[in-house]
Amino acid sequence: MKKLFYIDYPQERFEGHSHRYRCALCKEETTKINGALEGHLPSCSYRIALEKAGFEPEHAEAHQAMNTSDEVD
Ligand SMILES: [Zn+2]
Repeated sequence: MKKLFYIDYPQERFEGHSHRYRCALCKEETTKINGALEGHLPSCSYRIALEKAGFEPEHAEAHQAMNTSDEVD
């Protein structure tokens, strides 16, 4: 069971940075997480909860699926 993007985690804003957000649980910046489950720290309770639920911490196939539409002739 996989999701293309993992963006339903609690986020909080960096103090003093109005356009920077991070995971409220593991404190990794959202631009580093980039919608990927493995972007969270292994100790992140959001990542742990999804892994326990059967979600896999890799998204290579999702990337491939998105890139196949690049070919235009
Ligand atoms: Zn996290």
